[in-house]
Amino acid sequence: MTVNELDLTGAFEFTIQGHIEPSNGGLLYLVCHDATRLLLTHTHVDCNSGSAVWHVIPSTDSTGIISNVTIIDKKYDGINNSSEDRCHLVGRVVQLSLRHQVVLFKVELQQGKKLTVTLTKPDPRMKVGQLWSCTAIQVGCTLEIAQATPLSAIPLSSIPVPATITERVVLPDPLPPNDMANHALYLETGTSGWQLSCAQKRAWGWEWEAFNPELSRRARVQVGSGTSCVYEYKDPTDSVAQDVNVDTSRLVLTPLGAALGIGASCFRVEIGPYEVVLDCGTRPKGSDPLPALEYLKNPDLLLITHAHQDHIGAVPVFHARYPGVRMICTPGTREIAHVMLTDCLKVQQNNEDSCQLFDRSDLERTLFRLETQPIGQDFEPLPGLKVRFIHAGHIVGAACIYLRYGSRSLLYTGDYNTASSRTTSGLKLAELVQADMLITESTYGADTHPSRKTQETALLNAIASVVQSGGNVLIPAFALGRAQEILLALRTSAVFGETNCTNLRGRVSSGGNRHLSRKPGTTARQCTELG
Ligand SMILES: [Zn+2]
Repeated sequence: MTVNELDLTGAFEFTIQGHIEPSNGGLLYLVCHDATRLLLTHTHVDCNSGSAVWHVIPSTDSTGIISNVTIIDKKYDGINNSSEDRCHLVGRVVQLSLRHQVVLFKVELQQGKKLTVTLTKPDPRMKVGQLWSCTAIQVGCTLEIAQATPLSAIPLSSIPVPATITERVVLPDPLPPNDMANHALYLETGTSGWQLSCAQKRAWGWEWEAFNPELSRRARVQVGSGTSCVYEYKDPTDSVAQDVNVDTSRLVLTPLGAALGIGASCFRVEIGPYEVVLDCGTRPKGSDPLPALEYLKNPDLLLITHAHQDHIGAVPVFHARYPGVRMICTPGTREIAHVMLTDCLKVQQNNEDSCQLFDRSDLERTLFRLETQPIGQDFEPLPGLKVRFIHAGHIVGAACIYLRYGSRSLLYTGDYNTASSRTTSGLKLAELVQADMLITESTYGADTHPSRKTQETALLNAIASVVQSGGNVLIPAFALGRAQEILLALRTSAVFGETNCTNLRGRVSSGGNRHLSRKPGTTARQCTELG
């Protein structure tokens, strides 16, 4: 069978369970079983029949998300629990992932329009260029191939391709269920009047920050499939110092890691009546990945400077040992921590050389209870203890920590950079505060570095010369921070325009787009991150 013998009209269609619902404006929506609402266009069937399984052709909006559907017919009344939402398509394989987990199909529709559809679980026989007929079922936000039949093996290059619009199909996410979040908050706290932040999509569902202005209380709420969870930030006045018999003017520092090298940054600070922990990172190598947590007595608080593994990698271990202790970082650090710690767990599970320090439930509990405070504003996590995060300029979200209790104070810089980079502005020395005690990184303290511009120019010229002479360039880089900086330097460099390295420009630009369209750090693939 050749491509010309196939009737490709309607070669991308869905079977969707749901019911039709009119809106106030007279429009009709197909409300799917997961609460997704799809606008109906050109429907010719009786829609007043409650829940049913519908045979539809989807259309996508400018972002590739399915926004409306045309109902072709009703397959049968009622919802059959045993049947899933299904998609049928006839399309050509244009790309296969390296491990054969995902396949991209190009589907030709009417009027020369094309769609690119991503399906998981490809048939092992699939090869780029082949035409296949597939049935896929919806699993979460992906489409998984249930049945596939090869139709031809015509190479792509032999088919004339008209100039057409290509769209990428993304399954629609259901709207965030704000009412469920409000209900969960009411059930947990017994109070109403909570204001919700914009919902954040996580792997397991939705998440909001909540603030009750009347009661000055903050909380975090999660809603997953059929479950909800609330964590209310503790009121500092509820906290009582563990040891009330100590000298309230004390300021004692005990390094629990990183004092003589890089890795496992962790400091115990006894300030006034409190025991505060600053950072809780891991060592990338060796048999002793953790800081000396056994020297902790009764910690009252954990503060985190930034999301590199040597500063945050052991936080789930800390939380498992001291589940009642508050953990606080900046909002940027928490966002990156989601990626870094999740990746770290994956590496621990898949790498026989590294021991598993925590499991998935430790990780999820830690991330859920990791509180945030903005940079530049004083807050009081324990009675009388003033804390301020100061912009550190090292990576996105990085902060120095200033602590004060009574007349005693301490400044912990964490990792910092006074020069601005492409992803964050530099630390301003004027923002640092005088303190009784200073803990600072000294990794490059004895070195004088050339200016950033000089280093970038040297790197870009070296890459250009290798590529121009037909070589390939492989740049090992720490996943969080350096990798984004190098990609941005390459993408925005005039060197490649001048030297006409079209090959390199193409590769860098496609890699860069893929990485930079996500949040910083989402390309992290290793937990041996230092910096
Ligand atoms: Zn760092």
